[in-house]
Amino acid sequence: MHTVLSDLIELQQLDNALRDYQRRIDRLPQELATLQKQQDEKKAEIKMLEEKIRNGELQRRQLELEEKRYRESLSKLRSQQLLTRRNEEYLALENALAATERAISENEDQQLILLDQIEHYHKQLQLAQERFSKTKEKIQQQIQDLQAQAKELAMQVEKTRNTISQVLAKIDSEILTIYQRLVSGGKINAVVPLSSEGVCSGCHMKVVHQTMLDVRSNDKITTCENCGRILYDPEFEAEINSLYARRSRSDL
Ligand SMILES: [Zn+2]
Repeated sequence: MHTVLSDLIELQQLDNALRDYQRRIDRLPQELATLQKQQDEKKAEIKMLEEKIRNGELQRRQLELEEKRYRESLSKLRSQQLLTRRNEEYLALENALAATERAISENEDQQLILLDQIEHYHKQLQLAQERFSKTKEKIQQQIQDLQAQAKELAMQVEKTRNTISQVLAKIDSEILTIYQRLVSGGKINAVVPLSSEGVCSGCHMKVVHQTMLDVRSNDKITTCENCGRILYDPEFEAEINSLYARRSRSDL
């Protein structure tokens, strides 16, 4: 078959492979960031719960101190009451005692609620820590895999670029210009098969009879008169594929 066509098809395959590698490389930082974020979120959850527990304990100590003060004033009031001889004063102390006892009872209720909350946070913290340690290793592994992928892709890119420059050197510059103009114009698949019915698989339009004959003759570069893509006879695709298969086997 026309060797330029087969070179062009090879170039197209290499260009596509290169673009694919580049896309994968471009996605890697985002994937890494997502993994890192998952880990950070779990760490933040643990920190938040630890903070809640610390605050709870602080409040608890304040309530305990408050209770102590109430109880001190309670015993002071009781001694005063024992000493008093005046009825009015006795009643006033009686009221003060009742108010202090109410305050103590409220304080105790608050302490119980707080204890419940702290216990609840401890349980949540334990679960969060379990979740963190369970995923930590997995995420570390995934991060390492991504880093290995990045290395492998960089190698593939270099290898593909080398092959591309070898193929480029074989192609006539005029033909290369046609190809590159198509690619830079957005027609990434610049070299496409022409169906047996004469339909260009790039633009899906039927080409004129002469174009069909030119493609079938396979001895020159023929372009689709509708979209400008370079056409080839799919009959030769099998031939090209077996050529590549032989080539990649010899690579091994
Ligand atoms: Zn076309």
